[in-house]
Amino acid sequence: MNVASVSLDLDNLWAYLKTHGDPAWERRPSFLPAAVPRLLEVFAEQGLTATVFVVGADAERDDGAAAVASITAAGHEVANHSHRHEPWLHRYSRAELAEEVARAEEAITAAGAPRPVGFRGPGYSVTRDLLEVLAERGYRYDASTLPTWIGPLARAYHNRTAPPGAERDGLFGGFSRVLAPNAPYRWRTAAGELVELPVTTMPLLRVPIHGSYLLQLHQVSPRLARGHFGAALRLCRALGVSPSLLLHPTDVLGAAEAPGMEFFPGMAVPGARKVELLRWVLAALRRHFEVVGTGEHVARAGSGLRDRDAGRLARC
Ligand SMILES: [Zn+2]
Repeated sequence: MNVASVSLDLDNLWAYLKTHGDPAWERRPSFLPAAVPRLLEVFAEQGLTATVFVVGADAERDDGAAAVASITAAGHEVANHSHRHEPWLHRYSRAELAEEVARAEEAITAAGAPRPVGFRGPGYSVTRDLLEVLAERGYRYDASTLPTWIGPLARAYHNRTAPPGAERDGLFGGFSRVLAPNAPYRWRTAAGELVELPVTTMPLLRVPIHGSYLLQLHQVSPRLARGHFGAALRLCRALGVSPSLLLHPTDVLGAAEAPGMEFFPGMAVPGARKVELLRWVLAALRRHFEVVGTGEHVARAGSGLRDRDAGRLARC
């Protein structure tokens, strides 16, 4: 049976409000106490082990540290999702990048998880500097790419919602989304090698299949969402693609549990309906694949991966 992976980006309410330019983010509102137990319950029900990408600034707080502890206790992998969750990570200097990665690691390990070996940036972009920093720090994989042509839509959405002065043009763009492979490959960097595990998009069509995209379809029609995901799984099986499915806390939260996020796609779907869709999605995935976390997915991808030279990427 082919392998598939499930990962959860533990983006908190404050991070969405920050990217949206809502000053309420500074009070650091959190929905982790509502979302994490619910997600862990669904994972346990489905009997699967996943990877949770945790933001360092959350792991430093009591509710975030408690989340890391419960995720670790349930046997899931905890990986690094940056410290401050700024989607303009690619504008950081190399020293700032190194600090961002290291601070999140410290917070995550202080909360009781093993030292992370996987990283996902908040803006779906990779740079040469980032990959070198990760290789230097002994990371085994990066999972920051989303190979889709939906990029221009995401950019238009961000430009409409980003805070004044936030980086705009460089976001969601270029190589990492449009031409990047849909299957794992190996980055060769000046500081060593690491594997890139893309967030899988629909094979051939390259449209997203992650949780929040399915919820947007669900808002139009539940049948459309299920049909879309079912078609993606059939294509993955036919073409030998091992899917890596991305989830977020908003995939199980209703609008009342995420105050200030009414602008966000899919928030009109009630929490209970979202949980029902997630159960269906994970059960469908399990029917056809052996479901593991992203670290295990990378380990199983083996040694025959295609090489890419990170030296050909923009430095930052
Ligand atoms: Zn995120």
